[in-house]
Amino acid sequence: MKMIRFIITRLRMRSIRQIIGRITSILLRYEMSTESFQSILKSFAIFSNHFGIQPTFPVTATVVKRHPVIFQKLQATGVEFAVHGFRHVDYTQLSNYQIQSHYHQAVQIFKDLNLNPSGFRFPFLRRNQTTLKLLADSNIKWDSSDVIAWTFNKPEYTNPLNWKSYLQILETYQAQLIQDLPSLPHKDYGLIEIPVSIPDDDILFERLKVIPATAKLIWLNMLKDVRSRSELLTLQLHPERFPLFKYPLQSVIIKAKKYGDCWIASLGEICKWWIEKDHFQATLSQIKEGEFNIQFTCSDRGQPMLRQTDPDGNNIWLHCEKQLKIKSEKKPIVGIPQSCPENLKKFLADEQIIFEITECSKSTNLYINWQGPFLDIQKRTLLKQIQNCKYPLIRFSRWPKPYTFCLAITGDIDGIDLWDYWSRFHG
Ligand SMILES: [Zn+2]
Repeated sequence: MKMIRFIITRLRMRSIRQIIGRITSILLRYEMSTESFQSILKSFAIFSNHFGIQPTFPVTATVVKRHPVIFQKLQATGVEFAVHGFRHVDYTQLSNYQIQSHYHQAVQIFKDLNLNPSGFRFPFLRRNQTTLKLLADSNIKWDSSDVIAWTFNKPEYTNPLNWKSYLQILETYQAQLIQDLPSLPHKDYGLIEIPVSIPDDDILFERLKVIPATAKLIWLNMLKDVRSRSELLTLQLHPERFPLFKYPLQSVIIKAKKYGDCWIASLGEICKWWIEKDHFQATLSQIKEGEFNIQFTCSDRGQPMLRQTDPDGNNIWLHCEKQLKIKSEKKPIVGIPQSCPENLKKFLADEQIIFEITECSKSTNLYINWQGPFLDIQKRTLLKQIQNCKYPLIRFSRWPKPYTFCLAITGDIDGIDLWDYWSRFHG
């Protein structure tokens, strides 16, 4: 009965073909002995150390329990772990009691084995408001299950059926498109949600059947795009496919380092930064008419910024001192009325754009009197409105000094050997 219910659920998600395909391909490629997977994980860890990066591997707790030494050794090399469910099941199908019990048992398994899970990722990236709220209640600091789909050209050799399969997975993941939604962490119920980017190795290889050379081009374009947006690229490479995608990943890391302004961070570090900058603030005082004194208070990693007009007449954000005097007719901040939707206020706070709640539309350099609800897909519209402001505004940079955008490397571990994968299939 359990198996039938599972298959029905997965069929509804239109992914049973992919699951069977994945198990078969794992079986054919790696034989999936504990030793072979262990050596792949070791290679991934050595590769990461070589490039000075810390990948984040979400692992299912039952898998950790079956192979504790592998994960303890891996943790000693500097890898960061997150919980990828107690078992690899769809949490939206469980009762509240079951969800809470799974969270609790999973964290306990990690703790008992002296492993420190930094955050959480839902199996199949399936989550809803209830699962997130319960996760926040269980003291887990971050989740990385929101999905941002990046734009790329369909490879010429990808057949229509495979492309259709890709579009289906976007639906299953409830993915948001990068042109609609900024790829940035945000706070929900006190939980830091760090979106993961697609296409990942799973989509590229299993669904679109692309060769690693094409994957490299797609990922490099995503990196270029994220830099132009000053946002976050959370690149997912499931460790089991590390031998296949090592060079595309290496190209991305080398390029990111060459840029010189990319913060390559683990998801745990990103979460810490998001919490750290929560305490940043700016104090304004008017010296005289048309002149303000600004005092930014932030940690050493904080970067105060001032939006001003450069000599060519362009409005740009520039780094500035923590203490400065500026000439401005009105307060160099954003004003919003109390009636503005709460999630808009939350978005501005997450964005570190300095704003005040005021009913006086003439006291600030930009006044946003948002009408109606504030939808996620309107975030870019709001940012554009701020970007178009011709007068000085202040904020803190999204990323710590001296970086302008962020790259994180992550990869879910659903199993170490075939037994783990078979157990996963059973749900
Ligand atoms: Zn998984």
